[in-house]
Amino acid sequence: QIQLKQVTKSFGDVQVIPPLDLTIQDGEFTVFVGPSGCGKSTLLRLIAGLEDITTGHIEIDGVDATDLVPAKRGLAMVFQSYALYPHMSVRKNIAFPLKMAKMDQAEIDRRVDAAARVLNLADYIDRRPGQLSGGQRQRVAIGRAIVREPSAFLFDEPLSNLDAALRVGMRMEISELHTKLATTMVYVTHDQVEAMTMADKIVVLQAGVIEQVGSPLELYRAPRNKFVAGFIGSPK
Ligand code: ATP
Ligand code: MG
Repeated sequence: QIQLKQVTKSFGDVQVIPPLDLTIQDGEFTVFVGPSGCGKSTLLRLIAGLEDITTGHIEIDGVDATDLVPAKRGLAMVFQSYALYPHMSVRKNIAFPLKMAKMDQAEIDRRVDAAARVLNLADYIDRRPGQLSGGQRQRVAIGRAIVREPSAFLFDEPLSNLDAALRVGMRMEISELHTKLATTMVYVTHDQVEAMTMADKIVVLQAGVIEQVGSPLELYRAPRNKFVAGFIGSPK
């Protein structure tokens, strides 16, 4: 469980997140949606620990994580720019965070092989990122998160660099992955279709404020205001 309690974030004098409370339940696929600049990435980075919270607290599995460095939070972030190492093979890219953590080689191999199986990337595990398609690169980036066996995955628009057809395929793959791993996933997108098709729970944001939280069906049937209705594509 990830809990944000009265969390705010300011950059200089500008408060981009006014006091915000949010609970993300274990195993849930939670999607943050909202227009560009509404604070989706900032919120995800606060959860990951890549940005400091200005005021408030964050708890992960009941432990106050507000002052924990990212590596100690047990979460794994997947970015839209895959941030793979061009000179390393897929296998080495995926193993890299475990090597850094000085894990023993047998355990590294076991985890990398398991991730390769789940993501169907065994065929190109010895290639370098430059020899892969966009979708394959995205799988490698997800693989690098999986091997850390995080308590939650944080995705920031992971599919926005892919073409439309591939995006649909990857959307299904990530949903399947969620089913297979049964791990909490927090997923940022500004794509309504992604939100509606992938989410257990959608968090609609506008200017750093949560407009509504609910399942896709709840938001569609009973949007709280015009903004939510417009964003979700509800007829109301
Ligand atoms: P997008 O859909 O375009 O990715 P977003 O919802 O992810 O948008 P954020 O990147 O979280 O939006 O930005 C929220 C607000 O915070 C924006 O007004 C942005 O300009 C501001 N902001 C983000 N990072 C910084 C920073 N490092 N310094 C100053 N302002 C920032
Ligand atoms: Mg963003």
